Amino acid sequence: MKFNTKTIHGGQENIDPAYGSIMPPIYQTTTYSQSTPGGHKGFEYSRSANPTRTALEKSMASIENGKFGIAFGSGLAAIDAVLKLFKPGDEIITTNDLYGGSYRLFTSIFEKMGIKFHFIGMGEASNIENYINENTKLLWVETPTNPMMNIIDIEAVSKIAKANNLLLAVDNTFATPYLQQPLDLGADIVMHSATKYLGGHSDVVMGSLVVRDEDLADKLYFIQKASGAICGPQDSFLVLRGIKTLHLRIQRHCENGETVAKFLRSHLKIGKVYWPGFEDHPNHDIAKKQMKGFGGMISFTTKENTLESATKIVENLKVFTLAESLGGVESLAGHPASMTHASIPKEEREKTGVVDSLIRLSVGIEDEEDLINDLKQALG
Ligand SMILES: *Cc1c(COP(=O)(O)O)cnc(C)c1O
Repeated sequence: MKFNTKTIHGGQENIDPAYGSIMPPIYQTTTYSQSTPGGHKGFEYSRSANPTRTALEKSMASIENGKFGIAFGSGLAAIDAVLKLFKPGDEIITTNDLYGGSYRLFTSIFEKMGIKFHFIGMGEASNIENYINENTKLLWVETPTNPMMNIIDIEAVSKIAKANNLLLAVDNTFATPYLQQPLDLGADIVMHSATKYLGGHSDVVMGSLVVRDEDLADKLYFIQKASGAICGPQDSFLVLRGIKTLHLRIQRHCENGETVAKFLRSHLKIGKVYWPGFEDHPNHDIAKKQMKGFGGMISFTTKENTLESATKIVENLKVFTLAESLGGVESLAGHPASMTHASIPKEEREKTGVVDSLIRLSVGIEDEEDLINDLKQALG
């Protein structure tokens, strides 16, 4: 099955044996009757499994070319579940240009529990080898990175992971499986904030993991059940519905993203524009190799390079909404230094380029002329 068919049919065989409904019913139930103790039809209690959630998990596994999908109540709950695979003394190597909430989870929760994190540049994958020791267990990669749009070579990192017997997890939230399939490139775990492009309509908070290895899947299903950070059936239904148009939406996000990135780059009031589709982007070749397109996420600075100049722009936008989050059908503008990345100390974030004048756009699927006109008037 090809990707554009998988988004609609992947893992959805025999979805409703009772009545043949095309979409799975929303099984708004906590429990399931048993004919005799233990005599159930695969479902006992909805923390462990719920048929609507299972339908979604199968879809998620299918679109990532994986075998097992595990859904959670948020992206961070999914990351939290991965970290619970480890114990005090274990070490994790991750990128220094990371989603702010992941950074906060690592440093404020799991560091206290005795896990050690190394936040490093992975632009050159070989740099990772400098930080590997006998306690290292996991490489955690985000690509494209948020918000600086750096690209990490997943295949190169996976070779290092395999050579050193480490797990490799990739946060694929920005790229989505339409553009990039980390399991095919050697990753062991793919993670999503399904809140973003998978859901796609800014109406659900959810997270997911997809793996191929059955032992790893069993451990993660156990954590899902034992820690209980699950998503509900209604939300599962909504994300399943979102996934059915993922390919169409991402195509348009890519087209509009390219138009907006080129417009910004040609504008006199703009400083730098970060978008992996530009041929002079430092990792453009890797992006071209591992991604099918360059997406609709763009960051830029103002030429003045001041907080005031950035504030004025985001306040003047009318079609773009000033808001956190990304990946919905509507265009959003964010100010990482004060919003999504406020939990990272100023010196730390400025080292990676998150300066006060940086604006991040999630370019939506509206008419591109309206988006360009909106940016023109806001910059004027
Ligand atoms: C939003 C986001 C997360 C966290 O997901 P939630 O659903 O908000 O918990 C993790 N990684 C990236 C790249 C994100 O954009």
